[in-house]
Amino acid sequence: MENFTYTGLPARVVFGHGTINQIKHELDALSVERALVLSTPPQADQSQGILEELGPKGVGLFTEATMHTPVDVTERAMAQVEALGIDGIVSFGGGSTIGLGKAIALRTDLPQLVIPTTYAGSEMTSIIGQTEDGLKTTQKTMKVLPETVIYDVDFTLTLPPVMSITSGLNAIAHAVEALYAENANPVLSLMAEEGIGALVRALPTITKSPDDPDARSEALYGAWLCAVCLGSSGVALHHKLCHVLGGSFDLPHAETHTVVLPHALAYNAPEVPETMDRLRRAMNTETPAAALFDIAKSGGAPTSLDELGMPHEGLAQAVEITLNNPYFNPRPLEANTLLNLLENAFSGYRPTC
Ligand code: NAD
Repeated sequence: MENFTYTGLPARVVFGHGTINQIKHELDALSVERALVLSTPPQADQSQGILEELGPKGVGLFTEATMHTPVDVTERAMAQVEALGIDGIVSFGGGSTIGLGKAIALRTDLPQLVIPTTYAGSEMTSIIGQTEDGLKTTQKTMKVLPETVIYDVDFTLTLPPVMSITSGLNAIAHAVEALYAENANPVLSLMAEEGIGALVRALPTITKSPDDPDARSEALYGAWLCAVCLGSSGVALHHKLCHVLGGSFDLPHAETHTVVLPHALAYNAPEVPETMDRLRRAMNTETPAAALFDIAKSGGAPTSLDELGMPHEGLAQAVEITLNNPYFNPRPLEANTLLNLLENAFSGYRPTC
């Protein structure tokens, strides 16, 4: 076995159906007496329910969380934190809400209890991205790592089927890149394989029966493991491309991951035989990149950058931005092969490996 380094991030995880009923106990364990509940506007009704569940510990509700954590929204939330004497954050929602909770923690060091309702995985990472004047900056600091995560499967039942597919493929992308990251290690590889397997089994069932409690449970379990991979390992070409396409061309987060992942994997496949063996085993297929494409297609999710509104003339610019900032990838990055990858992603070509 090759030498390796593994850094696990501390987190308390409560997982299951109906686990929201442990929230007061978990806030006690964090010594939180005055919590602010956060959500996006569409989840305001449910977050109101969480606030009521908290009784006297629930002192405020802020329902303006927005994609990419704009600083002006954080400042409005901070005004409530200060005015209400808040001593803990409850983030209810996906990556956008969790991002707002992290932004408050960055400024205050307040403890965060997170209830994720998508599969994006921010709850297990010490990464925060914030947007100001149209510019997104990302940093890594333990200040933003949530202390407690309550995974309650019941809250994921309402995630629409197509969003479940794109969010699930977003999660799978974290684990795929952990398998071939520069700091890949056997512990994360175990989690990656298990997480990918769980999601790949669950997602087609969710497409047919979004209320299936067992498939939802398996998907959230898989998403947690994939999130641990994102929190503890590096990333490579796939995440870099999605960052460029999202940041410079304003493409949507989970959908971009969905479209790019089969192509980034096909690009790296010749250089990562061990990863491909693990994926074949985890996904029960001889052609993992094609199988990822098929999950998206049969789930009604987008499979081309064209569908996401990417301008064709932007592909060369995306390659240029990607190459301007060198970073680890198992296969060397060259302009012509990268452009070919993006052309395939643009047209919605199904990879063969
Ligand atoms: P999101 O949080 O923006 O949610 C998308 C939409 O789905 C919102 O309107 C939300 O209200 C709705 N929604 C969420 N859960 C729902 C449910 N169960 N039922 C019905 N509707 C629901 O989307 P996301 O993909 O979870 O997060 C994307 C953001 O998270 C991006 O800004 C991304 O950069 C960030 N992110 C950060 C990290 C990190 O480690 N820092 C990791 C992953 C994603």
